[in-house]
Amino acid sequence: MGRRRARARVQGTVQGVGFRPYVYRLAGELGLGGFVLNDSHGVLLEVEGSGPAVEEFLSRLGPEAPPLAVLERVLSEEREPKGEHRFAILESPRGGGVNAPVTPDSATCSDCLSELFDPADRRWRYPFTNCTNCGPRFTIVRGIPYDRPYTTMAAFRMCPRCRAEYEDPADRRFHAQPNACPECGPAVSLVGAGGVRESLGGCADPVQAAAAALADGRIVAIKGIGGFHLACRADEEAVVARLRGRKHREDKPFALMARTLQDAGRLVLLGDLERQLLLSPARPIVLAARLEDGAVAAAVAPGSPELGVMLPYSPLHHLLLADFADRVPGPGVALVMTSGNVSDEPIAFGDQDALQRLGGIADLLLVHDRPIQTRTDDSVIRVVQGPGGRRGVVLRRSRGYVPGSLALPGAGTPRHLLACGAELKNTFCVAKGERAWVGHHVGDLKNYETLRSFSEGIEHFERLFAVEPAVIAHDLHPEYLSTKYAFEREGVELIGVQHHHAHLAACLAEHGESGPAIGAIYDGTGYGTDGTVWGGELLYGDLEDFRRVGTLHPVRLPGGEKAIREPWRMACAWLSAGGDGAPAMPAALAGRVPERSWGAITELVRTGLVSPPTSSMGRLFDAVAALCGIRPEVNYEGQAAIELEAVCDPAERGEYPIGLGGDGLGGGGLDGGEGLEADRLGGGGIVIDPRETIAAVAADVAAGVPAGVVASRFHRTIGNVTVAACVQAAASHRTEVVILSGGVFQNRRLLEAVAGGLGEAGLRVLFPERLPANDGGISFGQAAVAARRILSR
Ligand SMILES: [Zn+2]
Ligand SMILES: [Zn+2]
Repeated sequence: MGRRRARARVQGTVQGVGFRPYVYRLAGELGLGGFVLNDSHGVLLEVEGSGPAVEEFLSRLGPEAPPLAVLERVLSEEREPKGEHRFAILESPRGGGVNAPVTPDSATCSDCLSELFDPADRRWRYPFTNCTNCGPRFTIVRGIPYDRPYTTMAAFRMCPRCRAEYEDPADRRFHAQPNACPECGPAVSLVGAGGVRESLGGCADPVQAAAAALADGRIVAIKGIGGFHLACRADEEAVVARLRGRKHREDKPFALMARTLQDAGRLVLLGDLERQLLLSPARPIVLAARLEDGAVAAAVAPGSPELGVMLPYSPLHHLLLADFADRVPGPGVALVMTSGNVSDEPIAFGDQDALQRLGGIADLLLVHDRPIQTRTDDSVIRVVQGPGGRRGVVLRRSRGYVPGSLALPGAGTPRHLLACGAELKNTFCVAKGERAWVGHHVGDLKNYETLRSFSEGIEHFERLFAVEPAVIAHDLHPEYLSTKYAFEREGVELIGVQHHHAHLAACLAEHGESGPAIGAIYDGTGYGTDGTVWGGELLYGDLEDFRRVGTLHPVRLPGGEKAIREPWRMACAWLSAGGDGAPAMPAALAGRVPERSWGAITELVRTGLVSPPTSSMGRLFDAVAALCGIRPEVNYEGQAAIELEAVCDPAERGEYPIGLGGDGLGGGGLDGGEGLEADRLGGGGIVIDPRETIAAVAADVAAGVPAGVVASRFHRTIGNVTVAACVQAAASHRTEVVILSGGVFQNRRLLEAVAGGLGEAGLRVLFPERLPANDGGISFGQAAVAARRILSR
């Protein structure tokens, strides 16, 4: 029987995920000789043996790959047999530079879980158990190559037994860089708010003591994979209210951790896709409709129809939740697991930092001595109904997904790129060739802490992925700290990308498309090419360029940025835009906004002083929320709009009048309209004009129509007009593709209505799924635009 030798090149996420030992075992099983190695393109292997055995090897190579491997391409070719009978794992060739060596952090695998709860196993109750198929990756990496000395595990010397596992290609822990055991690895400890070690009060270990404290209603800060959580039991009102009180002015819903899928199913309504996401190795927080009778205190997510739930993703979480369940009888109670921070500061991830910042909030801290290199928040995802079925949509992309790469469409970029992203919910992105790596969620770039995390994150990614940016893409807003960072980098070419164009491009590129398409891009604020504040835009564009083909009728943003925190100002601006003369303060705001302030803002709107024009859709939602009396002031951007969506009465079918027109419609209403972009749109420019809508909303509220009915009618109105405007724009530009993006489209009700309507109209709808629709997706869009502009010149 003739011998056969084949060479295969495997591309994708195949390094640091146990791929070489897997190949070694498969070759051994089939009695093949040859080799496997990592190089700068992925994995290269050759196998030699009988024809059928080689055939079987190649057919099983993809389907049986380890769980964390993602195979994008396998190219194989025939080679001349050499008579080789042994199979070996070879060293990586020097100098090539290993590509994409670092993978996202991954939830504890089932093998490790069995060991964790097996009293006979040497890793019984060991909170840092991991193997090649699971465990921390990105959060512990300090540099490349991805090797123990370049991780935060460097200080821990493996004991002989761990070392033997690490060096045995047949072992599940072969080259598992964070490999550790109770004898040689990191350890947990429980400290009080003052940093002094706590007595364990008869408990077996610090985890059990922490679980006991949680069961007693205390607040415990827990050091996890990407940072600290603040935890408490989720079912007791007084306990959750105390946590909320200590976190200061914090209104955002708290995330929950349930011990099992069944426990999660008692809190929220889970479909197949939600279950799949909860169990995925990324273990994101999944937002889903809350169930009436779940054991969850009202203070967990006040007024929200959804809860964010996740499952344990580290051995420490598994132990903690199991110990907690032992002490709390009945069906599984969940733990609140919210970011360890004070109001909108970034999440704490260093031990000293945590003591300092969380000492005033937590009664106890469960800490450990494995440092976290990169602060990484929990990712957040939700399932929405698209025209083609239910889809998972990422709202925050961080732990578990970062630093997974995304493909740039077409030929990618011929030059190394950095894209700096936006100001709020910032992420950055580095790219070379066909690959882009979007960084972890940095947050709002407004303090030293986040700015440092931004610039250090960029340096880290440039090192990890060997990207030396020759081109830097940035937002057009001159005051964004991310833009200023771009301007300060030396020896690079700068490419400015308009904010809403970046949203459009990010969504196109994520779906592997280049356009052209119509984009309905709705968000809070973005710097327009005319220097005004955009945010309710219809664009026609591709990856390279765009035209603004429609917009929301503009109004004044009274007092600029302040109007974001005080939606009642937007109510004033919109009421002013609709009538002649100064509007009276609506009854819903009486007693909540001083008459004098109302008068002063009316005056700002009339004169336009420190009040730039804005076509922001987010601010229109704010205005309606304020008019309904839902929230005259907010603690974070978008809060009023989120609460407006939450109160919607699902049974209501009515809607309001709204203007949709072309030429000239943008005129009038505001200082005679001069100088506003809407008037300069020229032939065919679409203007969505909600001035009548606002009047009708105000009249309904004055007549005592419930806020839920008003909110529902308003959502329906904006949904319908958006569908009509997109259909019109698509027809006149002869395209069938419509992109829906921008933070406003994180509104499920709006997104589902518009996507459904456009689907019925026969258009192909794309919305962001793997990257957030909010400004977290901007950096990838900037990179996609810059790449295309470099290519086309
Ligand atoms: Zn494992
Ligand atoms: Zn050990």
